[in-house]
Amino acid sequence: MKITFHGAAGTVTGSMHLVEANGRKILLDCGLYQGHRKEAFEKNRHLPFDPASIDAVVLSHAHIDHSGNIPQLARNGFRGKIISRPATRDLCDAMLRDSCFLQMRDLVYVNEKRRRQGKHLFEPLYEERDVDAVMKMFECVPMKREHDLGGGVSLVFHNAGHILGSAITQIDVRGRDGNRRLLFSGDLGQPGQPILRHFEYPQGADAIIVESTYADRLHPCADDVAGRLKSYVDDIVQLRSKLLIPAFSVGRTQQILYFLNRLYKAGRIPPVPVYIDSPLSMKATEIYRRHRECYNDDTCEILRTGEDPLSFPGLKFVETPQQSMALDKAGGPMVVVAASGMCEGGRVVHHLKEFLGDVRNIVLFVGFQAEGTLGRRIVEGGQGDTVKLLGEERKIGARIKTINALSAHADREGLMDWVRGVKGGTVKKAFAVHGEPDRTAKMAEAMAREGVPETFAPAPGASFTL
Ligand SMILES: [Zn+2]
Ligand SMILES: [Zn+2]
Repeated sequence: MKITFHGAAGTVTGSMHLVEANGRKILLDCGLYQGHRKEAFEKNRHLPFDPASIDAVVLSHAHIDHSGNIPQLARNGFRGKIISRPATRDLCDAMLRDSCFLQMRDLVYVNEKRRRQGKHLFEPLYEERDVDAVMKMFECVPMKREHDLGGGVSLVFHNAGHILGSAITQIDVRGRDGNRRLLFSGDLGQPGQPILRHFEYPQGADAIIVESTYADRLHPCADDVAGRLKSYVDDIVQLRSKLLIPAFSVGRTQQILYFLNRLYKAGRIPPVPVYIDSPLSMKATEIYRRHRECYNDDTCEILRTGEDPLSFPGLKFVETPQQSMALDKAGGPMVVVAASGMCEGGRVVHHLKEFLGDVRNIVLFVGFQAEGTLGRRIVEGGQGDTVKLLGEERKIGARIKTINALSAHADREGLMDWVRGVKGGTVKKAFAVHGEPDRTAKMAEAMAREGVPETFAPAPGASFTL
């Protein structure tokens, strides 16, 4: 078996690893590289292998940095199967179309500039009809079921606890010189998060590929998320004002709904209008509702009582931009959950423009805010500071709050817990991927300290034989 690390090698984005065994070529993830526009465009367009030669793509989960380049792969000759869990297929349908929309929105802006400069215009990497085509190539495999990839190669999915449908991929290869087992962690969720099952520890692997997003840090200990949410809701109900929560559409939005459902059911918050204001969030929530096979025991218990854990009275989904804008004019109290999570685009930006000035309002950040984003500037500035919003200076009057306890990625302890759990006496090689170079290096060192004989932080394009 040969593994080549084509993406998410020394970086967090563009997850893509090629496994060659018994004459089969299996691509683990086919993610979009996200970064500086021109560099990203080149990398995503020029794949480092012939797409027609790939027999199957196996998807760990639906995040765009893991699935977002599949339509391009198909556009350039890939005719194999795309293997994923059912929830991943459904989320990909929504997210790949959203990716088309975002690319087009970006291109309108870029091409306008290029036209003025007399340069040739960029084209999108792919369009909706390419997404239509790839959706027909999916083959869904439930958890724990062995799936034959041909040529003595097979796979099994295990829970990864990251987003709905996220999986750890086990690849088994039968060969003349014995059998080999490879585990690919995909993205691992932080233990103890609501809704989804905890990641699992499949045994008997010869080699593992492990993500390293937070290999150098520990998340703050479990914050009282419900208690803090309750206090903010009480506050805006009393002041008849607004609570704005910027949140990513897939995962974080559903976690917020879950906590609000629990608070409401326990009688800890009064009924208050809650608006989910993002078309993708609405689709993703429907998909979360459908795929109950991914739920953990607590969430299944709620289902058994006949309730929907992602619903409560007062919850409304905002469909059109007009309805979204009407929220800005309406009176409180209300909770608005809108994308994007880092305030870099989407409807949340318009709400910020209206909500940010009022001292009675609260803006609650529930996710990591990357450097250079509007979200980061608001969190760092805080009340009283001024930020530039859609070209205008806005003074921050609203109270800015942060809950850091919700993380989609396991921290250093979580990652090492997984490594210890799967290591057994069998793992001889471990590869650290999906992290900045200092983090993959730290992850490789930490795995060596755990006694894994050979550990690596592979450079892009590096190949290894098992
Ligand atoms: Zn992910
Ligand atoms: Zn990822």
